[in-house]
Amino acid sequence: MLTLIKNGEVYGPDYLGKQDILLAGTKIAMIEKNIPVPEGLDITVIDASGKKVVPGFIDSHVHLLGGGGEGGFKTRTPEIMLSDITKGGVTTVVGCLGTDGFTRDMKSLVAKARGLEEEGISAYCYSGSYQVPVRTATGSIQEDLILIDKIIGVGEIALSDHRSSQPTVEELERLTAEARVGGILSGKAGVVNIHLGSGERGLQYLEEIIDKTEIPPTQFLPTHMNRDESLFQKALAYGKKGGLMDFTTSTTDKFLEDGEKKCSRALSRALKEGIKLEQITFSSDGQGSLPDFDQQGNYIGLQVGKITSLYQEVRDAVLNEKMDLNTALAVITKNPAKILKLKHKGEIKKGYDGDLVLLEESSLEIDTVIAMGQVMVKHKEVLVKGTFEN
Ligand code: ZN
Repeated sequence: MLTLIKNGEVYGPDYLGKQDILLAGTKIAMIEKNIPVPEGLDITVIDASGKKVVPGFIDSHVHLLGGGGEGGFKTRTPEIMLSDITKGGVTTVVGCLGTDGFTRDMKSLVAKARGLEEEGISAYCYSGSYQVPVRTATGSIQEDLILIDKIIGVGEIALSDHRSSQPTVEELERLTAEARVGGILSGKAGVVNIHLGSGERGLQYLEEIIDKTEIPPTQFLPTHMNRDESLFQKALAYGKKGGLMDFTTSTTDKFLEDGEKKCSRALSRALKEGIKLEQITFSSDGQGSLPDFDQQGNYIGLQVGKITSLYQEVRDAVLNEKMDLNTALAVITKNPAKILKLKHKGEIKKGYDGDLVLLEESSLEIDTVIAMGQVMVKHKEVLVKGTFEN
């Protein structure tokens, strides 16, 4: 399968100028100023004139099997479908469980990740749910990482939240050590994805572990750090000591009114405060449940978090916060790829995976999405649907 993308303005995510990109099978085979269309070969040519070509997006926190359930069984959100992911330009997802690690488990999550991969994108997962002890697939964090290709870390472990299993700092320290060693032995990141609630303790446990042990700050990927101003302030202090910070893009107007920081704004503020771009990522928390309210603030039901919010916030960072596209893109491409040690992901480089998104020139809307060399969405129309999508 050969695909040639011609005349696009390439952001790899760093600006590379006008380039043609040749995809061979699942990989990027060539990036050159002018690649002639070879004759006598079966090749798809995509004219990207007037478009920007950027790496496929990486979403490091998605409830692939659904999430929620905090309002009883009927509030468990449904499983995600392939096009919910690809329509958002996302070509790599990392799945997690959530509050409910009881009716949903690691075996189903690994199966779901494999299913999505069969459908055409790249999918991984974290071992565990909110709870400590961690609810693994094999009985051990290290063995999950070493034996199961899809498992690349642990999480989302809930801290500073009323739904947390309230682990002690020692318990968290122990599981992080296990994740680190499992990661080292398997050549994976072994990161611990931490769900932060709005509790006063904030990042205190992570700071204690980083201060008193040899575990580096990059072992933790704490998320929801834009939840409110108080946590955001704690996140800035944590970031200044080298900690990573992940902002959650799916939200509601009500959450924003109540003080949640819009991700595009949080990114711009964090950079102005001197946090390094490499430390910051966005994730969607997609397919989790979001309570919905009417204009008077009355609860009217539940919404499902959307993966499409991931890129929406990057676009807002460019259009509203006046950030460079390459800077804003890093938080959903290069940065998560490095932090999660996803080889051949997150950048447009020869030999990397053929994961690309074509954006409209000035509106920056998603036009075309290519995953592992296959065109999934073309001119905003979903070409490859999931097995059970009509
Ligand atoms: Zn969470």
